[in-house]
Amino acid sequence: MDRPAPRIEREGLAGRRTVGPIDASQVPRFAGPATFARLPRADEVPGWTVAVAGVPFDSGVSYRPGARFGPAAVREASRLLRPYHPGLDVEPFAVVQVVDAGDIVATPFDIEEAIGQVGAGAMALIEGGRRLVAVGGDHTISLPLLRAHARNEGPLALVHFDAHLDTWDTYFGAPYTHGTPFRRAFEEGLLAEDHCLHVGTRGPLYGATDLTNDAGMGFRVVTSAQMDELGPAGVATRIRERVGDAPLYLSVDIDVLDPAHAPGTGTPEAGGLSSRELLGVLRRLVGLRLVGADVVEVAPAYDHAEITAIAASHVVYELIGLLAIRAAQASSTPDGSNASEDRVSHLAPGVSDGL
Ligand code: MN
Ligand code: MN
Repeated sequence: MDRPAPRIEREGLAGRRTVGPIDASQVPRFAGPATFARLPRADEVPGWTVAVAGVPFDSGVSYRPGARFGPAAVREASRLLRPYHPGLDVEPFAVVQVVDAGDIVATPFDIEEAIGQVGAGAMALIEGGRRLVAVGGDHTISLPLLRAHARNEGPLALVHFDAHLDTWDTYFGAPYTHGTPFRRAFEEGLLAEDHCLHVGTRGPLYGATDLTNDAGMGFRVVTSAQMDELGPAGVATRIRERVGDAPLYLSVDIDVLDPAHAPGTGTPEAGGLSSRELLGVLRRLVGLRLVGADVVEVAPAYDHAEITAIAASHVVYELIGLLAIRAAQASSTPDGSNASEDRVSHLAPGVSDGL
């Protein structure tokens, strides 16, 4: 392309201009380089509020490797995301400036060194209250991401979507793996007591002590099977009750989805959520104090027809929607008026029937 790509520009919060995706009516979605949702790179705009960043690291996996290619696959699958979210009634890229901040680079040869690099990279991105949705990478990366966010926000309410608990102690004697991040986070005091919850767990465990150890760290569980009785609205209610007013960090292991909805992942387990159920839960979390999020464990070598990467790209879009609404709520004036009200009419939790 010999001239700058035409982008959708809008008036966002406080009258600030936001630079959105490349206009798909002028450049087809399949053309040009893949940034997330064809958004501008961080270096193409003067400032930003929400960034998507890749963390291509998978040296902490215990079974199938390949999540290092997750960020590229999710960006590629995100080309079809459009600017308006009807379920949340928000244009997330218009309300706040959203960018693709590229990848946080970490060594594939030393897990502890990589954890330090991911933490430093995340700290730089979230400086000054900016928000980050990190795309993994394996679940090891959640530990440094939680450290970075807890440094800014204090102990965090962790809502963890995953087939697995990820609170094991060690694996082959290794303390830092994709099966251990939340035990380390608990030990380091990064988690808010009585506010943490796993959602979607299922499958065989090493023993019943896995569950009692996990409960001993203060986690509660909504299993995948409970989705049948509760439905997305009921699960969201459980989450809202558990999180309350605490600063919320959402970690989504894509293997929370059934292998039919996410075959491209490292540790698949039968009996999982549908992508519709997961999206339905996430969009009912509007209004909670979301401060950061990650979407991990997309391993495209095992994917088919981009099923997993498409699901992950929509999960990231939901998370950006929640962060944009949160930013709009935070900037609302006491009389309720808002510079971008036309782009966020549903500022109250609960949202619409059509979601
Ligand atoms: Mn998992
Ligand atoms: Mn996990």
